[in-house]
Amino acid sequence: MITDSATLEKVAKSRADTPACDTVVHFDNAGSSLPPRQVVDRVVRHLRREESVGGYIAADEVRDELDDGYATLARLVGARPEEIAITDSATRSWLSLFTAVRWREGDRVLTAAPEYSSNLIAMLSVARELGVSVERVPSTEEGDLDLDGLRAMLDDRVRMVAITHAPSNGGLVQPVERIGEIVADSPALFLVDACQSIGQIPIDFDAVRADALSATGRKFLRAPRGTGFLAVRRSVLDELTPSHVDLASGSIEDSRVRLRDDARRFELFERNVAAVLGLGEAARYYLDAGPQWVHDYVTELAEHLRGLLGELPGVAVTDIGSRRSGIVSFRAGTTPARDLVATLRDRGVHVTVSHASSTPWDMESRGLDELVRASVHHYNTPDEVSRFCEEVASALR
Ligand SMILES: *Cc1c(COP(=O)(O)O)cnc(C)c1O
Repeated sequence: MITDSATLEKVAKSRADTPACDTVVHFDNAGSSLPPRQVVDRVVRHLRREESVGGYIAADEVRDELDDGYATLARLVGARPEEIAITDSATRSWLSLFTAVRWREGDRVLTAAPEYSSNLIAMLSVARELGVSVERVPSTEEGDLDLDGLRAMLDDRVRMVAITHAPSNGGLVQPVERIGEIVADSPALFLVDACQSIGQIPIDFDAVRADALSATGRKFLRAPRGTGFLAVRRSVLDELTPSHVDLASGSIEDSRVRLRDDARRFELFERNVAAVLGLGEAARYYLDAGPQWVHDYVTELAEHLRGLLGELPGVAVTDIGSRRSGIVSFRAGTTPARDLVATLRDRGVHVTVSHASSTPWDMESRGLDELVRASVHHYNTPDEVSRFCEEVASALR
């Protein structure tokens, strides 16, 4: 485990910024992280201002900061500010992109086994209505997307390749750079669900060659709930007509709708301004903390957790993939995941249940029904990992 003094100092700062570290062991950063106090303070301060002067004046006063939020999110993913739309969730971001494609009968969409259920539901709905075929790219034995399999499936009818970077049920980090390289040789759009990777794995829009990328605020980015964003490459905007538009997404000229020529054509006018300010603050906080350091630490802490968990009698770590994220999933013998999660919660230890319904194709193909999911961040420590494993062992006795 990394225990050099520079790392310990950074972790100590992260913990000092996260007051709840004193009272709980929070291993649910894949569900909803503990936000840093800077984020909460920013939100509350704006709500107080709205209380004093009303929402419009309060928003006017922070116009520069709101603009700066786009630049910060752009920096976060290596995109340009005009390629960012702020939304209220990852699903909203993903759906607004997916439904903006002008699908034609006979189009093909390629995705992978661990795809998130909400994305699959959208794909399969379009498939049913419009005669689009949704196909699963095979996985390697380790669980990664099979790159040769992808190459073999691509042809001119593939309109989109939609891949989740870090699936929500544990382990796997898909090789999105290599996938992007392959997709770039075809006419398909490459849509990356970065919901679980943003905030724990550095992402570069250009290196991934993604056409669009969706993300949420509340998970590893540690922003308020009800926030998310979408990055869309400028060059593909003209191919995309959002299904929901209003006076913020476009204007009326001679009785014709003219959409904005930046990614904000995917936004609507109304938003929770306080939460959006919190999103910007969270992105700044993460960039200041240092994405590479965060990634190295989280990866190592998660591996440490896998190692200790694997030694507990009756516990089986179920993570797949040749490269792994900060999300650790396991089965605890015959103890139902929800029972173990509830017992741990009573002891101030927070993890969640990963249900088959969230990642149905992967869970079904591996014969899994539900898992316990423990997801660590840069405010968590090796001591907490030890404490966690002791609590699991004790709960199972
Ligand atoms: C949680 C999750 C989502 C959905 O995020 P929301 O912000 O709840 O819409 C999408 N994709 C993945 C991989 C997720 O884990």
